[in-house]
Amino acid sequence: MPKPEKVNVALVGGGIMSATLATFLKLLDPSMKLTIFERLDEVALESSNPWNNAGTGHAALCELNYMPDSKDGSLPSPAKAIQINEQFQQSRQFWSYLVEKKILGDPRSFIHATPHMTFVRGDKDVDYLERRSKVLKSEPLFSGFEFTTDHKQIAKWAPLLISGRGPKEKIAATRIDSGTDVDFGAITRQLVSHLAKQGVKTQTSSEVVGVRRIPDGWHLTVKDTKTGEKRYVLADKVFVGAGGWALKLLQKARIPEAKGYGLFPVSGSFLQTTNPALVAKHKAKVYSQASVGAPPMSVPHLDTRVVDGQASLLFGPFAGAVPKFLKFGSLLDLPKTIRPSNVIPYLSVAVRNLSLVKYLVGELLKSKEAQFESLRDFAPEAKPEDWKLIVAGQRAQVIKRDPKGGGTLQFGTEVVASADGTIAGLLGASPGASTSVHIMLDVLQRCFADEYPGWQNSLKKMIPTIGQEINADKKLAAEVLKRTAKALKL
Ligand SMILES: Cc1cc2nc3c(=O)[nH]c(=O)nc-3n(C[C@H](O)[C@H](O)[C@H](O)COP(=O)(O)OP(=O)(O)OC[C@H]3O[C@@H](n4cnc5c(N)ncnc54)[C@H](O)[C@@H]3O)c2cc1C
Repeated sequence: MPKPEKVNVALVGGGIMSATLATFLKLLDPSMKLTIFERLDEVALESSNPWNNAGTGHAALCELNYMPDSKDGSLPSPAKAIQINEQFQQSRQFWSYLVEKKILGDPRSFIHATPHMTFVRGDKDVDYLERRSKVLKSEPLFSGFEFTTDHKQIAKWAPLLISGRGPKEKIAATRIDSGTDVDFGAITRQLVSHLAKQGVKTQTSSEVVGVRRIPDGWHLTVKDTKTGEKRYVLADKVFVGAGGWALKLLQKARIPEAKGYGLFPVSGSFLQTTNPALVAKHKAKVYSQASVGAPPMSVPHLDTRVVDGQASLLFGPFAGAVPKFLKFGSLLDLPKTIRPSNVIPYLSVAVRNLSLVKYLVGELLKSKEAQFESLRDFAPEAKPEDWKLIVAGQRAQVIKRDPKGGGTLQFGTEVVASADGTIAGLLGASPGASTSVHIMLDVLQRCFADEYPGWQNSLKKMIPTIGQEINADKKLAAEVLKRTAKALKL
């Protein structure tokens, strides 16, 4: 039997989360021995791949689900939108630091300034968008927020939305310049390549198939996906950055904290065009309102994307019901996670969310023509010959046991860690990659509680506003936006 490899931290999964955590750890303690295990042949082939996600730098500038309407028509609360924006500012600051230290390359290889817009139709949504904009306009991190119902103005901002639209249709839009388009796959690959120079091995085609607690840490069984050979790893700590498969591994580790969780998978696809004439006419990420019954992360949007220096437009996502937890996962992913502790949460979420399940199945069965009609709601003159369908990543949304023993479906992310902090994993998908820095700071605090206080000064150099509420200080908010825009060439 081969001798087990010994590491301080084993990171399962080669996506943006593991790459971010490993980068933090190596900067904070260069002596740490880390290894990343990835089951596929390369890193960033699942959700972090640029074609598997929408690449929106989620800062709540355009996504209505972070600031839902009030029930009584009063001004909606901006609290959640501000929180998401502040989390994204941590990412902007950390990426700026990494560019300065030459750990990340030219920012134009992974981030681009792209105005964020919201576009709505009909009296009810026009009224809501106006009230939303009234609130956000005065928030420092949303400075420069504009609202209009004027077709001509919207045509200036995003011509495709107006060409072919009746002049009497009631529409409205908001726009803000400080939005971004981000290639999370490029960030992942650049971080992994820098880590390799620091002695961090990334073992690809290596699937972690067993996780067992031992007296001083964890025993991992790793299978070579090409030869089927197994090898073993002894780790003081484990981070499960396995995307949709994180729950499976946390269950294998038998930590009580993972009990009661389940996952609700949602598949996705996008329409894409590379037609230069269309690409030249649309330079924005335009989000709209979710259709009735749709999950919040399935709001339709028409987006500029820049990947490997090439601009294209994406429209979608079209959600669907496929029971895999990863794009390259298995149809048995869902049934295999059912345990006595989560069977009731699974059942109660299925019963309470029948309309969502019905919606997803309906979306999956939607004809190409029907999908195209959704695009025409945005761009009335869109022609099928310009667009092709591409399959996006899977989202595995968190199902959590509620205090009454039932289950609730959540649309955010959640770090599940053992009480002793020796193993942690990330469940859920949204806002996801954009807030990877904030999420990994949470993992650092929970899994390195002894070391964290001594790391404060170093972390402050990487993220100068760490621990501060940026939006509460107008001057600070403006300074952070300006400084990171300069560093990231936005
Ligand atoms: C359709 C869609 C649109 C999205 N849009 C956005 C967006 O606009 N903005 C945004 O910020 N976020 C978006 N997200 C979310 C974002 O993509 C994810 O939050 C993020 O990529 C998750 O990163 P990760 O590292 O946790 O997972 P992943 O990138 O999925 O990486 C997990 C890795 O673990 C590997 N793995 C799994 N199990 C094992 C094992 N047992 N052993 C070894 N390796 C294993 C997998 O192969 C995979 O490479 C979107 C997601 C989807 C699906």
